[in-house]
Amino acid sequence: MSKKNILKIFIFFSIYSIFNLILFFYFQQDKENRIELYFQQKVDKLFSEYRATQNGFKMLSNFVCDNINNREDILQLIYKLKTSDNRTKNILRKKLFKKLKKYYTLLKKYRFYYLTLYYPNGKVFLRMHQPYKYGDSLYTKNSSLDFIKNTPFLINEIETGIIYNYQLFYKGKLLALIKTSISYDVLKQELTKLFNSDYEYILKREFISKSTLRTGHKLFIQSDINEKFFYEETSIKRDRSRVTNQTINKINLVIKDRIKDKLSLEKNFAEAVKIDEKYYVVTFLTISPFQKKNYNIGYLISYEQDNTYEIFDSVFWHNIILGNIIIILILIFIFYVLQMNEKLKLIASTDKLTGLFNRNKFYEIISNEIERVKRYKRPLSLIIFDIDHFKKINDTFGHNIGDYVLKTIAEIIKKNIRINDTPFRWGGEEFIVLTPETDINGATTFAEKLREAVENYKFDKVVKVTISLGVAEYDPKRDKDIDSLINRADEALYKSKELGRNRVTIAD
Ligand code: GH3
Ligand code: MG
Ligand code: MG
Repeated sequence: MSKKNILKIFIFFSIYSIFNLILFFYFQQDKENRIELYFQQKVDKLFSEYRATQNGFKMLSNFVCDNINNREDILQLIYKLKTSDNRTKNILRKKLFKKLKKYYTLLKKYRFYYLTLYYPNGKVFLRMHQPYKYGDSLYTKNSSLDFIKNTPFLINEIETGIIYNYQLFYKGKLLALIKTSISYDVLKQELTKLFNSDYEYILKREFISKSTLRTGHKLFIQSDINEKFFYEETSIKRDRSRVTNQTINKINLVIKDRIKDKLSLEKNFAEAVKIDEKYYVVTFLTISPFQKKNYNIGYLISYEQDNTYEIFDSVFWHNIILGNIIIILILIFIFYVLQMNEKLKLIASTDKLTGLFNRNKFYEIISNEIERVKRYKRPLSLIIFDIDHFKKINDTFGHNIGDYVLKTIAEIIKKNIRINDTPFRWGGEEFIVLTPETDINGATTFAEKLREAVENYKFDKVVKVTISLGVAEYDPKRDKDIDSLINRADEALYKSKELGRNRVTIAD
């Protein structure tokens, strides 16, 4: 393989690699953008599910509380309870408990297990789910956060869920508040029933009361997803409908490190995992026990088998393959055009019969040479020659033999020149050899060598052919243009003819 071809292949592969790299990064970016968009949709979907389910429970809670609020006797009882002495208080509390029982039963039917009544200052006066625990305050002492002053937030063993507060008014004044709550576990079951995923929730350690963690009842256990988050034990034991516990364990193990930083950002996000040749998308939604307040206590997680994700990968590779085919086709086309162009140029500059450069190419090359001579003051000579009595050869042996002689002479020249010399077919049976870096003496010697070589060559049939030559050296003072140099050489050639042919004449 020639050096030129190796270079061509090298250039081809370099360009190909560069384009391929660009292609790869472009489609990689494209894929990432698509995935990001898709994940955003997943988060939005989970959020809608969460909101819709939560809202159902809120309406239930409000419905029951509205009914309580419409019971004048109950409001009156609460009012009395607030203002009476301790002994009367106990009697009134029991009365109130009886009156509220049917409402609590109704709420329990819908899995609101907690119903607490408290005064605006936070003091609890009745817990329907724990009738003997009252008198404590719902507000934590050591919190500096404003909103916590208004809503209890610390999670203990009976309150892990969404909290709804309802205000009771009596005689135009805020009398008391009802707090109901639905556990995340119930919410999770409801979500599983309604939508097409499996859910889990994890709670930040700092929101689980220390006493709860210390009791050793294992109400909360550390999650396998991150050591700072806890599961509610009752919640994770349950078997799942779609994604098995075993798969979830595997998923958690795989994404554990990936999501470590994301979890601490407290923002919604999604991750994709491949487990046992199946893709799963795991979506994380921050959760807060309060409806509006943006205080995240953990994440609601949805696990969903998702084949759509796989498509992003295959689309990516399809794009790469298609892009590669297009690049290769374009490059092949470009190289083909360049090659054709080169061939056309060669055809335009060479003589078909002898394969030597033609007159067009001669002017192109000699112009460059003359520039060089002028700049570096180097010698440049030219030999022109004409086959003697060529007409006779044609007439005697036929045109084909004439052509054969022309071709053979071209071969003889090629064999006898140096690398810097260039032979041309000037026209008919006339040739020129351009000899750079050669003065008139050198060129004359060379011309003599050529003459001898032709004379001594044994041609088929014709046997002996001779040539007459003229030699001239380029002289910037005399030769204002190229034709002047050629004319001088041509005159010398004619002198050779006049002097009897088969000889070299130096131009004056
Ligand atoms: P002289 O020694 O004076 O040069 O005599 P000559 O016969 O060579 O001179 P002339 O210029 O009269 O003849 C040149 C001939 O070369 C005429 C033409 O038919 C022939 N010729 C030109 N080109 C070709 C070619 O490509 N092939 C062949 N076979 N003959 C050619
Ligand atoms: Mg001639
Ligand atoms: Mg001739």
